[in-house]
Amino acid sequence: MQDINKISIRKDVQDVVVYINDLFDTAIEKNFSDIHIETTKDFLFIRCRKDWDFEIYDKVSLEHLSTIVTRLKVLAKVKIDENKKPQDWKIVYTSEKAWETIDIRASTLPTIYWEKVVMRVLRQNDSLINLKSIWLFQNNLEKVENVLKSKYGIILVAWPTWSWKSTTLFSILKNFNPLEYNISTLEDPVEYNIDYVNQSQIKPEIWYTFASWLRSLVRQDPDIIMVWEIRDKETALLSIEAALTWHLVLSTIHTNSASATVQRLINMGIEPFLITSSVKMIISQRLVKRICSNCKKEENINENVREKIKKELQDIMEQDEINNLTFYKWIWCEKCNNTWYTWRQWVHEVLVLWEYLEKDILNMSPASEIHKIAVKEWMITILQDAILKAAMWETTLDEAFKLI
Ligand SMILES: [Zn+2]
Repeated sequence: MQDINKISIRKDVQDVVVYINDLFDTAIEKNFSDIHIETTKDFLFIRCRKDWDFEIYDKVSLEHLSTIVTRLKVLAKVKIDENKKPQDWKIVYTSEKAWETIDIRASTLPTIYWEKVVMRVLRQNDSLINLKSIWLFQNNLEKVENVLKSKYGIILVAWPTWSWKSTTLFSILKNFNPLEYNISTLEDPVEYNIDYVNQSQIKPEIWYTFASWLRSLVRQDPDIIMVWEIRDKETALLSIEAALTWHLVLSTIHTNSASATVQRLINMGIEPFLITSSVKMIISQRLVKRICSNCKKEENINENVREKIKKELQDIMEQDEINNLTFYKWIWCEKCNNTWYTWRQWVHEVLVLWEYLEKDILNMSPASEIHKIAVKEWMITILQDAILKAAMWETTLDEAFKLI
């Protein structure tokens, strides 16, 4: 990130309407995912997230703070004078420059100086997601589509860090025509709106927790239920109950890997037989940086790295094939520094809970053991997935090996 002390403080914001429009236009142009407006005792600064990294957008004199925040609140049609309590609001912005309408979901939190505003930028093209757009390899895609055919059971997306889990959930959901099924979701927050899907926002402050809401929702004759996250035993049990009564339940769980997810459920207090009878599939995912096609250069792989690659891929590829793989490294150029070129690429591990795993889950074998068995049964590990995507010049080996 740039050195904030070297950036001078903007004294003048002539037209706040233009200023905010410019901010949103830049967010579209540079593909920022989040915009943070923060205050120190001397100035306010705006920094934006692109992939994982922050870029400082501007540093502005404090006298403009209230004009800027007020403008945002006007756009969001929320109370302007409320700055003592956290607030959530939404802005729909149409960029005349980019010919694009974006949804901006904002949250504010009072801090010691003022209030911090964080805005998530949701592009329309994000809502056109489907299973193909999250880059599942063909064999994984087939596995997922096969499991979805049965239309009941639990499908979990495992995520250790910020990894666009909602995109994956929605890409699965998009396989079902909402006019043919009763699809209901419990979300926190609601990020995308989908027609004919019954989306509910969880409000823990007024008793609506995932568990309490889920209990009411199953009485609504649903076919497919999407629960934002399973983080406690009660929600897990209700999801299992729904799955065992012929519903398809989609949810996410905070774990490191597909195999660790089984362990996590057991640690929550779920009986192993309930897991084997309800959970159909666990998709573990991470994001790696997508390489810039403008400046990428072929990378000379030394023996050491080549050996590492061989070791990882030997179960799924022939030696010759592995030797012929070529990789690219990232140079960094004007283009990837300044435009949308640096973008994300998904890597996955898809664990289908077939019978071959049943014995080990019932015996509560450690995650490492379950992983080993799954690999024997042709599960592509997340690292293999990433190395293969590096060999397809989608990402770099560096990014792949960062995963372990
Ligand atoms: Zn580049």
